[in-house]
Amino acid sequence: MSSPKSPSSSERLVVLDGSHGEGGGQILRTALSLSLLTGKPFRIVKIRANRDKPGLRPQHKMAVEAAARLGRADVLGAEVGSRDLVFRPGSIEAGDLTLDIGTAGSTGLVLQTLHLPLAMRSETARRVALTGGTFNPKAPAFLFLEQTWRGHLANLGMPLALAMPSAGFYPKGGGRLEAWIEPAQPRPWIRTTRGDLVRIRGVAGTSNLRDDVARRMRERALSRLADEGWNVEIDIETASWPSPGQGAAIALTAEHAGTAPAAFVGLGERGKPAEQVADEAVDELLDFLAVPDAAVDPHSADQILLPLALAEGRSVYTVSEVTDHLRTNVATIRAFLDREIEVEEPVTPDQPGRVVIS
Ligand code: AMP
Repeated sequence: MSSPKSPSSSERLVVLDGSHGEGGGQILRTALSLSLLTGKPFRIVKIRANRDKPGLRPQHKMAVEAAARLGRADVLGAEVGSRDLVFRPGSIEAGDLTLDIGTAGSTGLVLQTLHLPLAMRSETARRVALTGGTFNPKAPAFLFLEQTWRGHLANLGMPLALAMPSAGFYPKGGGRLEAWIEPAQPRPWIRTTRGDLVRIRGVAGTSNLRDDVARRMRERALSRLADEGWNVEIDIETASWPSPGQGAAIALTAEHAGTAPAAFVGLGERGKPAEQVADEAVDELLDFLAVPDAAVDPHSADQILLPLALAEGRSVYTVSEVTDHLRTNVATIRAFLDREIEVEEPVTPDQPGRVVIS
């Protein structure tokens, strides 16, 4: 990788349509990471056009502000609600970061935005401390980050440590996510099969709810998984997380030989029975297990694409599902990097899709 260039005012903006494909915050977050790493300025219009509350939400504003701080960037349009933003990075000044989203917005998504620029442009380990949500719908929950994201990054040669001193749920937020990021460059990765299922482990946890909620999530998950009749160890523990708010979540993690653990998370909400929370995690886990040769779960599929596109050398991996997030991330990455990325759709439902980065 070349080091970031100093942008000149004449440098052409990468222009992105935020309504393209999946049309969510991922287009913006990928653009921020890549702009910092390549030095290319960008403009994004129609930000999050396909979401209920379009434009920047507090979590996205925080990602923009933190990226701007890290890359000494000039930014136009970084207000909550903004649908049009221009980001012109300067040189990266990596340091520790302490950030408060101010709402229950996802700390994990902000961390993922900053992770690669910090890891790839730092000489020493960096600490990022974020306050906000640690369990959010449609975003990587802490338990997913800690097991699955961290596991994949370790396979790519990018070690990091994570902690959640406090859980954050909607609407109160106030969760804390801490990350220690080692300086590293991503390695390419080839994995087109999955090893044997070794174990399924889980955590059913709550914050400030009645004791029976975690127990019921656990029991439902155990009874559904027992129905499958696998001959593997299944171990689900209950947990009580400190938090300023209330919430419940269950993570079920499939451990296969030779690839990162794949965690699937069900998230509670007011009026949703504990059994339904467990069912959501079980259903996602079973969908993944139904595609025997998939090395990567659907969420990691779009998340590991970015480090692999930045790695020198060819990567190939199989995925249990080709999602809009994956296709959209390919398009955003291509706008910044001269990299050939092919996504092959599965031919039958029990066959994996394939991602090839050449
Ligand atoms: P967006 O919807 O565009 O803001 O992007 C959401 C990001 O969160 C994508 O990278 C998804 O892969 C990721 N994501 C969504 N749901 C989950 C989940 N249950 N576990 C892990 N990651 C998720």
